[in-house]
Amino acid sequence: MMRIEQPYDEATGRPIPRRTPTSAPYFEAARQGKLRLQKCPRDGFFFYPRTACPRCLRADWSWKDVSGRGTVYSYTVDRMGLDPAQRSQVPLVVAIVELEEGPRMTSNIVGCTPEDVSVGQAVDVTFEDLGEETLIHFKLATS
Ligand SMILES: [Zn+2]
Repeated sequence: MMRIEQPYDEATGRPIPRRTPTSAPYFEAARQGKLRLQKCPRDGFFFYPRTACPRCLRADWSWKDVSGRGTVYSYTVDRMGLDPAQRSQVPLVVAIVELEEGPRMTSNIVGCTPEDVSVGQAVDVTFEDLGEETLIHFKLATS
């Protein structure tokens, strides 16, 4: 079995996402403070990045910016740091966010305590530069 090494940020020890040719535009947009997803001309936006629309398998999708607004579809709280590299982050809210454009993204809700989070809450995208990559998180909407 081939083992792929996970890159870690040297300063914080936290895991860094690994780009692929397919996901590179997603991470490039994040670097610019934008949430950019693939959009199928027939089925609309989808996430995660892949080579074909998950519904119709078309490959003529394009990259489009989305609003970054969504709601908490579901969440859990990691209070132990199951990944040792994430122990400095606990308690860590791991959520499924449903974007207003439709797709659901697994992400973290940051800038609040777990007790502040509830299903259905409005959230906005936020970005965290971590060494060579930018992480995409969500925060509770202020309005
Ligand atoms: Zn499609």
